[in-house]
Amino acid sequence: MVKKNYKFNKILVIFLSIMLTFLCSCDLILDNNTNNDISCDSVNSLSVHFLDVGQGDSIFIELPNSQTMLIDAGENYHGEGIINYIKNCGYSKIDYLVATHPHSDHIGSMAYIVRNFEIGEIYMPKVSTTTATYENLLNSISKKGLKIKSAAAGMNITYFDDFTADIIAPEEIDEKNLNNSSIVIKMTLGNKSFLFMGDAEKSEINSITADVSADVLKVGHHGSRTSTTADFLERVQPSIAVISCGINNDYGHPHESTLKFLNDINCEIYRTDKDKTITVTTDGNTLNVQTNGISIERAK
Ligand SMILES: [Zn+2]
Repeated sequence: MVKKNYKFNKILVIFLSIMLTFLCSCDLILDNNTNNDISCDSVNSLSVHFLDVGQGDSIFIELPNSQTMLIDAGENYHGEGIINYIKNCGYSKIDYLVATHPHSDHIGSMAYIVRNFEIGEIYMPKVSTTTATYENLLNSISKKGLKIKSAAAGMNITYFDDFTADIIAPEEIDEKNLNNSSIVIKMTLGNKSFLFMGDAEKSEINSITADVSADVLKVGHHGSRTSTTADFLERVQPSIAVISCGINNDYGHPHESTLKFLNDINCEIYRTDKDKTITVTTDGNTLNVQTNGISIERAK
């Protein structure tokens, strides 16, 4: 009997060792960011991936007709990681590239992406700046023979069946505060809508005349107190809010007041600093939120 138990224990130890090795290798897959866990499936549905690029924005969108959109592109060390993520979703082209406004945490890697990936239309607000990052982006666009569409409220990016992507701001350009020239996009599939705020602050937000009601809100300006007000949330009435910000960032984003306003309306809050990449998918009737534990790697 004693011998039998010993044998059994030995088998158990071997079995547990194999299981442990398997579990560890799963963790390694995630840590190495090989993107095996990306859930990409846009056939007849809309999938919005809020990529974890730390303190910045980058949102990859699979449209229901299998076209793609990229809103912003993180800092200048995220380009390779963003392209890898898109490739791992099975795409070789960004049909619509949107630079919400020319700050480095939004257009940092856009020149790299323009140089290294197939691009369709490019949308930017009609505002300029003198930074090297911005000049570099303009050079990469003109070298490739692409043209920039100057974005303004009232423009439609694309529509088909029961899908539409509209630019609802800026109404006016603010040369002094680039945040307030942010492209704001409302995207709708069937009964579900998304609102992408860029870094728009109060004065731009207050100028929006379009219907801003949406189920999913990409909270403006990384959750800053200068963007989110109780009045604005009253207009949007979101059930899901996504905040794109870095862990322990220098700006204190998201601000307490923003979180309080969102909690007051019982909104589900997701944050890239806590949840990493967040994917919201809809078929036009229901919303599904997934977090895949992936952060976009910094180029070495
Ligand atoms: Zn920003």
